[in-house]
Amino acid sequence: MTDADHPTETAPAEGDLAPRFLSLEEARALECNGCGDCCDSRRSDGYWTWGALPADQYRSLFDGQPLIIPLHRTDGGWADRPATTADEADLTPTRFRCGAFQPQPDGRGLCGIHDREVPPKCREFPVWGEQVEAELREFGRVWLATESFPRCTWYRVCVVQPVTPV
Ligand code: SF4
Ligand code: SF4
Repeated sequence: MTDADHPTETAPAEGDLAPRFLSLEEARALECNGCGDCCDSRRSDGYWTWGALPADQYRSLFDGQPLIIPLHRTDGGWADRPATTADEADLTPTRFRCGAFQPQPDGRGLCGIHDREVPPKCREFPVWGEQVEAELREFGRVWLATESFPRCTWYRVCVVQPVTPV
C-alpha cells in the first residue's frame, strides 16, 4: 500500500487529534485496531492506493485468485478493472480492493488471510517497513503515511529519534 501522491515527509493537516511524537520502539508497540481503512481504496474515497502491483496480483497467496484487484471510478461508483503493466510501476497510484478483506458490521474490517502470508506492504504498514527506518536515519523524523485514516491507531504519529540523556 502506498500513497504515491503524498510523501511521508509531510506533516498532516491540522485536525482534532494532536500529533504524537513517538520513538520507533514506542510506535511499534502500538496495536492495529482493525479499522480496515488501509485495505481498500474506497474507504478513503480513492486517496489510498497500491503501488508496484505484481503482474500475478498475489495469486500465490490467495489460492490462485487475484488478491489485489485494481478499481476505477465510474458514473455509478467504483468498478473492478483488469491489471495493466502500468500498475507494476512503483509510482502508479492503483486504486484497489482486496479479495481477502472482510468488512464488519461495526464499520471495521478483518483480513481474511491474517493467519497466512500477506503481501509485504500489508505486513510493513505503517511502521514496520525498512523505509521508515531509512527515513528516520536520513531525516531524524518520519510522519507516518496515515493522514488519510483518522481512525488508524497511528493517525498523526511522527516517529522521532529517541531523546539521548545529556
Ligand atoms: S491481504 Fe489482508 S491486510 Fe492486506 S489488504 Fe488484504 S485484507 Fe488488508
Ligand atoms: S488504518 Fe491503521 S488501524 Fe486501520 S487497519 Fe490499517 S494499520 Fe490498522
